[in-house]
Amino acid sequence: MDLGIAGKWALVCAASKGLGKGCATALAAEGVHVVITARGAEALEATASELRARFPAVQVRTVAGDITTEAGRAAALAACPQVDILVNNAGGPPAGDFRDWSRETWIAALEANMLTPIELIKATVDAMAERSFGRIVNITSAAVRMPYDGLGLSNGARAGLTGFVAGLARQPRLASRNVTINNLLPGPFDTERLRSNTAANADRAGRSFEEAWASRREANPTRRYGHPDEFGAMCAFLCSAHAGYVTAQNVLMDGGAFPGTM
Ligand code: NAP
Repeated sequence: MDLGIAGKWALVCAASKGLGKGCATALAAEGVHVVITARGAEALEATASELRARFPAVQVRTVAGDITTEAGRAAALAACPQVDILVNNAGGPPAGDFRDWSRETWIAALEANMLTPIELIKATVDAMAERSFGRIVNITSAAVRMPYDGLGLSNGARAGLTGFVAGLARQPRLASRNVTINNLLPGPFDTERLRSNTAANADRAGRSFEEAWASRREANPTRRYGHPDEFGAMCAFLCSAHAGYVTAQNVLMDGGAFPGTM
């Protein structure tokens, strides 16, 4: 299926690795020019080289910086001639007990997983409406549907973003101008973050990484982890010309782990 978005420009935040990279790859495969960001320049340039080699017709620009800062966001926006597609992503907040978290800890989580996406939406959405095309995908978490114990910062900040988006995406001045805003909710995907979180949890529980990794895999109905390419494919579809009637949705990709009927 031709997704009908070749030649568009996408800003894909936090995309040198993992789910963000999966999204940037799937969009580039559709002929979308991409601006990708991450804090670490080395991995970012390696990903950009990989994309340029695989998709020579596509322009790939890099912006090394922290997307949760004003300067990082300004640099990312400046590198993108026009943002037709925005994929919001950033690292997830740390695990822990809420009794140990200070106000500053909370503010940092809100900055990364709620306020940064809102700032980037604010900077881009009205111009999208003027051009009668816009696609925004926020990478959140399955924890929005089914909170993870110990990940209260993530549960709270992402639920805040989800509530905000639920209202904004339904504004007729956006929805009637072919601007969609959706959240993509990953369950367990095989990325560096999931591996390092699993290693830390296993350590605390006195188990080996291999044992903890296998036990989580076996707990999923699919008996496997998701692949970032699968996540990217869903993101690209939500950004496609065909998905203009899909907005304000929370799309769960968790291999069927959420045990509800709907
Ligand atoms: P990952 O494999 O660790 O990749 C994270 C990417 O984001 C890297 O490119 C990283 O590069 C970049 N990044 C992190 N913080 C950044 C910042 N402040 N500014 C710019 N770039 C930043 O992680 P992932 O598994 O893809 O996770 C992506 C998001 O999905 C996270 O918020 C995570 O909590 C959420 N999530 C993941 C899963 C899962 O199973 N993987 C499940 C639920 C939710 P640098 O470190 O160089 O900046």
